[in-house]
Parts: sequence; structure tokens; C-alpha cells
Amino acid sequence: MNSRTRKFLSYYKPYIGLLAADLACAFIVSAITLLLPLCVRYITIHVLEEQRPDALTQIYLMGAVMLGMVIVHTLCDMFISYKGHMMGAYMERDMRSELFDHFQKLSFSFYDEHKTGQLMTRATNDILSLTELYHHGPEDLAISVLKFTGAFIILMYIDVKLTLIVFMFLPVMAVFAFYFNKRMNRALRVSKDRIGDINAQVEDSLSGIRVVKSFTNERVEKEKFEYENRRFVESRREGYKSETYFHEGLVGFTQLITVAVIVFGGAAIVDASLELADLLTFFLCIGILIEPIQRLVNFARLYQEGITGFDRFMEILEVEPDIVDAPNAVELTQVRGSVEFRDVSFKYREDHGEVLKHVSLRINAGEYIALVGPSGVGKTTFCSLIPRFYETSEGSILIDGIPIRDVTLRSLRRSIGIVQQDVYLFAGTVADNIRYGNMEASMEEIVEAAKRANAHDFIMALPGGYETDVGQRGVKLSGGQKQRLSIARVFLKNPPIIIFDEATSSLDNESERAVQQSLEQLSQNRTTIVIAHRLSTVRNAHRIIVLSDEGIEEQGTHEELIGKKGRYAHLYDMQLRV
Ligand code: ADP
Ligand code: MG
Repeated sequence: MNSRTRKFLSYYKPYIGLLAADLACAFIVSAITLLLPLCVRYITIHVLEEQRPDALTQIYLMGAVMLGMVIVHTLCDMFISYKGHMMGAYMERDMRSELFDHFQKLSFSFYDEHKTGQLMTRATNDILSLTELYHHGPEDLAISVLKFTGAFIILMYIDVKLTLIVFMFLPVMAVFAFYFNKRMNRALRVSKDRIGDINAQVEDSLSGIRVVKSFTNERVEKEKFEYENRRFVESRREGYKSETYFHEGLVGFTQLITVAVIVFGGAAIVDASLELADLLTFFLCIGILIEPIQRLVNFARLYQEGITGFDRFMEILEVEPDIVDAPNAVELTQVRGSVEFRDVSFKYREDHGEVLKHVSLRINAGEYIALVGPSGVGKTTFCSLIPRFYETSEGSILIDGIPIRDVTLRSLRRSIGIVQQDVYLFAGTVADNIRYGNMEASMEEIVEAAKRANAHDFIMALPGGYETDVGQRGVKLSGGQKQRLSIARVFLKNPPIIIFDEATSSLDNESERAVQQSLEQLSQNRTTIVIAHRLSTVRNAHRIIVLSDEGIEEQGTHEELIGKKGRYAHLYDMQLRV
């Protein structure tokens, strides 16, 4: 058994009792299905034909027995349908939780390469198809084998010749069913990929709806969507075509067998080599013989569908997070806040060029550093390396002299607060979003953090104050307001090191000043690294680092750099002139 199969079966483990009960019910259902025609045969031959004196009593007795069997059959079927499905649903829940946990562990490099829409499909559709397999799989197999062998034995006992005639059809029927089922599955697999593409396209167009509308490119988006939509419907055409051949073909075969039995069986009765009661039993049993074929093919479909889903599920689960704790990682405690880059080089992917080349820089605890330089030079990248969002390709980064590779990710990231350029607000209220900095914070602490981040006043002016819902993406707040909420979050987190990626979008003067003030508050007694676009942020810095494609081009205080008349002085001149 390979490791995937073992993994697949492992999800049954917590529900082994349920599975056993499910299979027991499947056994009972099959047995009763086989016993019923035998009861009919018994009544026909031994009660009706023999004209026994106690015939009526016998009939009532058999009726009572059969009624009992029908009741048990129904109860067992109900158990399979309800409890069996729930078992599948529980297993699916377990898998979905595991997948979500794994999503949370995966590194940024993974998310750079995957679209959220496609990942969402993995967590929903792909797993959904597994419920059916987990639940129907074992029961379908058990019922098919039992019914098929049982019906075969009964038919052979009744009449060997007629049984062999019926069995001549079965291999043809099986090959037919297998072929079209395979075609159906292939189409299904393609459909699954296509629906993933549609999801990704919808996600893309809706996420960028502001851009779409501002460029009035609705038509372009519609065309992109229509393309995916068309591809999807084409893949379904193929699916329905093979499904039609498959289902209607099977119905045809069944009717063919019935015709054969009535012709050859009828002839045998004329020959007096077969009893009428036996022909009757034969008819009742044909259904039981054919049902397993349909069930098995149905199982093959479930299996294919489920395994496709499972493979896609495992594809994600088998992606190892690039960045994990070293085996002997230590906790980073009582951080003073010095940060050192020691000959750091970095590229996003093996086939990409280096974004940072041999960068060395020492930032003292409590220092306020401004990073400046043209866009695309690697400022954001530089900052992403400190919390180990990405791993350096060469060299190392040290906090308080300890390489960040040797400390736990949790303690490292707890020591660093980040205010991103593009602030992400979660669905929920303003207070919820600030609380994200420290889930244990009281309402007083939240308000205090908001005050220090210069956010209290605008929050109070919102219709619901701290309880205002900010919507899925915080669309109702301005960029400056979102940055201040983000700063409030970091106040609550209270880390010794902060990184601030200043919003490039032109904030209006007032909100720029408000953000600036809250940043100054926040940077008190902390190591601060600011990716600066505005002069005001830069002038206050203890040290300004000018990055160029070649690495650190120059560094010093504002006055020093102006005196040097280098790149910074040039940039400064340009900005002043605007
Ligand atoms: P800056 O913040 O100075 O504008 P960035 O650090 O964002 O620059 O980007 C530096 C370079 O790295 C750019 O060429 C950019 O295209 C590239 N880059 C940024 N993020 C990624 C990423 N996630 N995957 C691949 N390349 C990236
Ligand atoms: Mg940037």
C-alpha cells in the first residue's frame, strides 16, 4: 500500500465504529434482498402449487416473515443513508481543517505562485466529492460483491443453462460500462480544472473591480470570463455525451437480458425442463444481478472523482512550507532590537535575478532608519527578510546578534511589527481589526492604542464608532485611516522592532501629518525601519540608507547626505522642486 492510500484510509480511523456498523447494515440489506425472491419461490412452489390444507396459514406466516425483513431492510438502509453520509461529512470536515491549517503554514513563496480562487476550490469542491466516496465506497463494494455472488448462486441452483445465457451478456456489458465510464471520468477531471479557472477569473475580476471600472474595461473582463465559461461548458458537453451513452446503454442491456430470459426460459417451460415458479424467481433475481454492475461502475466514478479530489488535496498538503523552525530553534526573548544584515543576497526564485546583492548593514537597537531609493530597487524585499517571510539566498540576518534562522518563527515575528503599504482589514468591526494586534486586549487598551495611533477621533466619527463594520476589504476607509488602524494594531502588539512601508499613494496633507505623528509615537524606544517616500519621514531619521541596484549606495543623516551632494541630495532637490 503506498503512502497516499494509507493516508486516504487514515481518515476512517476516528469513525471505525461507524464504518463497521455501516458495513454490517450493507450485509443485512444484501442478504434480505436475496432472501425475498426465495420467499416468493417458496410460497409459489410449496404453498400455492402443492395446494396444502394449511395454505392460508402458511401464506400469512410467510407474509409476516417477509414484512419483518422489509422493516429491517428499511431501517438498515436508513442507517446507511443517514449515518453513512454523516460519516463522510465528518471525514470531510477533518480534511478541510487539516488543509486550512496547512494553508496557514505555507510560506509567502507559495502564495506568490497560487491564485486564491484556485486554492478556495481545493478547500471546498475537491473535498466535497470525497464525502460521497468515503461513505458509499465501502458500502457499494460490500453490497455489490454480496449481491452478485448471492444472485449467481441462486440462479445456478435454479437453472444452469439459463444462467449461462444471462452471463454471456455480462462481460460485454461490463466492457461497455467500463469504457464509457472512463470517458466520463476524463471529462469530469477536465471540468474540474475548468471550474477552478472560472473561480480564479471571477476572483481576479472582482478583486480588481475598481481598476476594471476606472478603465471602463468591463468588456475585456467579460471576454476573459466568457472564454473560461465557454471552455467549461465544452468540457461538460463531452461529459454529458459519455454519460448518456453509459446510462442508456446499460438500460438497453438490461432489457436485452430480460428479453433473452423470457425467450429461452419460455422455451424451457414449453420443454417442461423449467418450472414457472423458477422463471418467476429468475426474473426477480436478474435485477439483483445487474444492480451490482451499475453499483460498481458508480463506485468507479465516485472513486475517480474522489481520488481526483484527494490527489489535488494531497498536492497541496504535500507542499512543505519553505520556512519552518530549525530543529533546535530557540525563543527570542527580551529583544533589545538591533538588526544586522551580514552579506545578504536574495532572489525570489532560482530563475530570477538577485534583488539584493551582498548587502551588509547594522541597525542599532532603538535606531530610526529610513530606506529610500527608486521603486523596484528592493526596499520592501529588504524588510520582508527580517521577519523571515522569505529566506535569504546567501548571508544571514541577526537580531541582537542571534541569526534569525536559529530562533522560532513565532518569537521572531512577535518581536516585529509591520505596517504595510496596502493595509488588509478583515471582515468585522474596527475594534476587531485593532484587536488583531493582541487578541487578549481589553476595550480600554484598544481605545488607548487607537488614541496613540491618532485614529480615535476618526473612529468616533464613524457611524458605529468602534463597532463599525469595515466590510470585507475595508473599502469604506481611506488609505490614511487604514494605515492608522494598522499602526494601532502594532501599538497593541508592542514589538521592539517596527517596519513601516509608507503609503506611496498621495495622502492628503492632514492625514499625512496624522500618520506621521502616530508613526513618531510608535517609534519611541523601538528600532524603526521606514520605507520612506516623504521628506518629513526621512528628515527625522537617525540614518538614511539610499538603496540602488548595486546595493547600499550611501548612508548618513539628512545633513550629511545633503553635504555629500550625491544621489540623495539629487533626489531631495527633485522632490523640493515639485
Ligand atoms: P521596492 O519596495 O523598492 O519598490 P520591491 O522590494 O517591492 O521594491 O521589489 C524588488 C524587485 O523584486 C522588483 O523587481 C520586483 O518585481 C521583485 N519582486 C517583488 N516581490 C516579488 C515576488 N513576490 N516575487 C517575485 N519577484 C518579486
Ligand atoms: Mg515597496
